[in-house]
Amino acid sequence: MSTEKTLIIVKHDGVSRSLIGEVVRRFENIGLKIVAMKMVWADERVAGEHYLVSDEWAKGVFSKAKVAAESKGLEFPYDDYKSYADNIQLMNREYLMEGPVVAMVFEGPHVVEIGRKIVGSTEPRQAPPGTIRGDYMFDSYVVADGNKRSIRNLIHASGTVDEATREIALWFKPEELHSYQKSLDSYHS
Ligand code: ADP
Ligand code: MG
Repeated sequence: MSTEKTLIIVKHDGVSRSLIGEVVRRFENIGLKIVAMKMVWADERVAGEHYLVSDEWAKGVFSKAKVAAESKGLEFPYDDYKSYADNIQLMNREYLMEGPVVAMVFEGPHVVEIGRKIVGSTEPRQAPPGTIRGDYMFDSYVVADGNKRSIRNLIHASGTVDEATREIALWFKPEELHSYQKSLDSYHS
């Protein structure tokens, strides 16, 4: 069984809310293996490259916000997905640099998918109870857009295996990633 890695970041709002331990606990409780962990105050390069505006990401942020607005019967007043995403990328850069964050890499089968399940939807308003974003935040597209800021959702989790590979290389040096055995490894060796 091939294993994956995923990047999990407790963003600064999570650090400020004293949620580092809670986030680690939720991942550790289901047996996922931490292979790297550090507190970082991101610089412009790292914060700017973290959310690279690929066409796929731009279409994704645009359509998630559009669907959320239309599901509430609200008009979605933007039509250019690229400039919408460029603006979010700029706001996210500030969000990621506002204070130190805790970056972690978890390893295991399906860990990207499982990480997203633990974290919950991008918009805390939609994230179900039991997920980190659903349990600890209430922010929404409407409120964030009205205040011209990123949605405050406490945590980052890689969305795909390819995204994880790129993000881990951005935040960690190869020697900061550790390789070791845990008891649960015997189930998927
Ligand atoms: P996720 O973090 O769930 O993978 P995305 O990759 O789509 O979500 O977006 C990255 C981050 O950008 C989100 O976590 C959120 O903080 C912010 N964001 C996304 N879409 C919007 C939006 N429409 N308005 C404000 N902030 C947004
Ligand atoms: Mg994402």
